[in-house]
Amino acid sequence: MIDFCNFSSIFIANWKLHGNFDFIEDYYQKLSINSKNCIVICSPSIYLNKLKTNGKNLYSGSQDVSEFEEGAYTGEISAKMLAENNINFCIVGHSERKQYFSENNYKINLKSKILIQHNIIPIICIGETLEEKNKNMTKEILKTQVEQSIPDIANFQNTILAYEPIWAIGTGLTPSLDEIKEVHDFIKNINKNYQNFKILYGGSVNALNSDDINSLKNVDGCLVGGASLKVSEFNSIIS
Ligand code: PEP
Repeated sequence: MIDFCNFSSIFIANWKLHGNFDFIEDYYQKLSINSKNCIVICSPSIYLNKLKTNGKNLYSGSQDVSEFEEGAYTGEISAKMLAENNINFCIVGHSERKQYFSENNYKINLKSKILIQHNIIPIICIGETLEEKNKNMTKEILKTQVEQSIPDIANFQNTILAYEPIWAIGTGLTPSLDEIKEVHDFIKNINKNYQNFKILYGGSVNALNSDDINSLKNVDGCLVGGASLKVSEFNSIIS
């Protein structure tokens, strides 16, 4: 398993359902990484074998995994298959999977566990809807998500958390810096076991706001969707 704990920040590029051969070739030609940050590129499954790694700080990631080890599950990709293809990280429980593909906390827990068992680092996403935020339920919702989604075998060396307010994903909206700080502090203190977990922020991160967000205490990096598709913008986020 990759030792990600010593990096000062971790940046995940989530390409979602985007990319093609030319895009990928151009992306790696222009991607400029320095050694103090860990960079993970998460592509659609069919392109996972095109992702480059350098054994130091550039890694590959999947956007999902099956909760099943193997069997009659048409269309699925297992953790064992990801491991055989040297995939190092995997996003789990992204809000788009919850919204469109019936992902729930129970499945997220199973997927995360199976990934850890195959030495792949789950990046477990949690976050509240706008309605929940407006009802002041953010902390309650996050506590439930954390307690139900994080498997017993998870620890700060084999699992990463990403706080992604659902209303901030792809909308250009973000919480205030104080709100992000407060939520990250809250998550780390839900249980003493979570104190040392790396927690990334995700939701409309771009070249203009990433420095402020990432320099907050308790923010250990960012999960970047839309802005990761423009390699020049991603370069400035990770630099
Ligand atoms: C994401 O895909 O997890 C994400 C945060 O998207 P965006 O950066 O586009 O809001």
